[in-house]
Amino acid sequence: PRSADAEADASPATILHEVFGYAQFRGAQADIVDHVVAGGDALVLMPTGGGKSLCYQIPAIARQRAGRGVSIVVSPLIALMHDQVGALHEAGVSAAFLNSTLDWEQTQDVERRMLRGEITLLYAAPERLNTPRFLSQLDSLHERGKLSLFAIDEAHCVSQWGHDFRPEYRSLTVLHERYAGVPRIALTATADDLTRADIVERLQLEEARQFVSSFDRPNIRYSIVEKKEATTQLLRFIEREHEGDAGVVYCQSRKRVEDVAATLKDAGINALPYHAGLDAAVRQKHQDRFLREEGVVMVATIAFGMGIDKPDVRFVGHLDMPKNIEGYYQETGRAGRDGLPADAWMVYGLQDVVNQRRMIDESPAGEEFKQVMRGKLDALLSLAEASDCRRVRLLGYFGEVYAGPAAGPPQGGPAPLGGSEPRAAGSVGATCGNCDNCLNPPQVWDGTDAARKLLSTVYRVNQHSGISFGAGHIMDILRGKATEKVKQFGHERISTFGIGAEFSEVQLRGVLRQLIATGALAVNAEAFNTLQLTDGSRAVLKGETTVRLRESVSSPAERKPRRER
Ligand code: ADP
Ligand code: ZN
Repeated sequence: PRSADAEADASPATILHEVFGYAQFRGAQADIVDHVVAGGDALVLMPTGGGKSLCYQIPAIARQRAGRGVSIVVSPLIALMHDQVGALHEAGVSAAFLNSTLDWEQTQDVERRMLRGEITLLYAAPERLNTPRFLSQLDSLHERGKLSLFAIDEAHCVSQWGHDFRPEYRSLTVLHERYAGVPRIALTATADDLTRADIVERLQLEEARQFVSSFDRPNIRYSIVEKKEATTQLLRFIEREHEGDAGVVYCQSRKRVEDVAATLKDAGINALPYHAGLDAAVRQKHQDRFLREEGVVMVATIAFGMGIDKPDVRFVGHLDMPKNIEGYYQETGRAGRDGLPADAWMVYGLQDVVNQRRMIDESPAGEEFKQVMRGKLDALLSLAEASDCRRVRLLGYFGEVYAGPAAGPPQGGPAPLGGSEPRAAGSVGATCGNCDNCLNPPQVWDGTDAARKLLSTVYRVNQHSGISFGAGHIMDILRGKATEKVKQFGHERISTFGIGAEFSEVQLRGVLRQLIATGALAVNAEAFNTLQLTDGSRAVLKGETTVRLRESVSSPAERKPRRER
């Protein structure tokens, strides 16, 4: 065996230098490594690109060198296992994986080496820890004092509140119950308070020390613009700011993925589609091209991305809104892993709100679950509607008070992360200077009056006709347009006809969107998307709630180009 591991110096700093070739630990890494080397349990929350792998790889090597045997890394992604094991081999570390890609002989070979204690890091899929065969092998190691450490990567997969629930993760409590003395480190790049609490409970990490890094990705510029002609907006955005760059564009449906990829291709952009409906071979081919070629734009559903480690993704676009902020953070986080400037760009409109609400309403889940999902959606909607710093809001959602940009521009790697407790109070009203709202503060106007006029129009129209109508029709009445349909229903005789004539259609659409986003107006999906008042309408109608709205956001083409080309 090529064991650089045996008999060598077991100090973490030495391993960092000699095995990985790095000069210094980053952020909380040193504390985490010390804690785990000493046998403590840990829960590590660190953003993508923050350097989670070393947090368990170095303890694994240190403990192997100290004679403690094999570390088991639980990972849900086969591609990621292969990458990591490959990289460890190159660094001279004895690592292997057990998963469905191995044939019987290869599996037995890995098992034998593991049982002899020759492997430092063994990567395994979570379902393997359910098999009696694997557990009895771990028992054997454990009895001989050669079971060193468990690392549970992508730990949010244990939570149904997370965006990537994997039931197999639930059975990982076996680690704690069966091998009580063996330290465990769980890691994730995404976890709001609810998910974090769920991880602690599900994996029984109550005693573990929590290491929470700042989730800020200072090199990512966040922009959320109003959706008009989404595909055209995207095209303009790419042509203007990211010509020839690699990027990922997320769409909701497979059909839309195909359409958008085709449109981009027609415009001369090297775009490829990716969704679960494509042949596995085609998906693999597109993924390979994305990783290997320069400047490929992957147009994809959320089926694409997890475990794809491409450092120079210069932009992530969303043509449809994700389900919640965790999803948004995770997906946008795939941009700029190399620390260089990158864009997170999303178009968002009324239809997104309606679609997401409907998906929750129509899902077969229980009422409690739906309530949680609605709350999470609302948080994302208020991020989208915000007229103040997006970064402050985004980090605020993860419980972090943003204290302003770190000194100096981001350089060739993610900015240093804070220590283990960076969530100290920041200055109130901090801004990042690197989001659309900071760079181009939007005009804000008081939409309270418009909102009241809109709601009373809905009320009167429904009263008048005994049925409800859609947004377009309501806006026509408000603006005093006597269309065929208006005349047909006699709606030009309603007292609110034309009372909103001073507002532009864009303004009214913004009002409508915000009313729906905040639940003061409902869209009835079962009745042709017609508008209905809710309990929340009353406060607005009575003037108890003010409605503050951003003016229509300028389209990217109207923005100043960021870089000289
Ligand atoms: P994560 O899993 O948190 O997304 P990785 O473990 O993949 O992040 O690390 C991201 C990148 O940063 C990798 O290329 C890794 O080699 C590098 N890296 C991690 N820690 C350090 C360090 N202390 N010094 C220099 N580079 C580091
Ligand atoms: Zn900002």
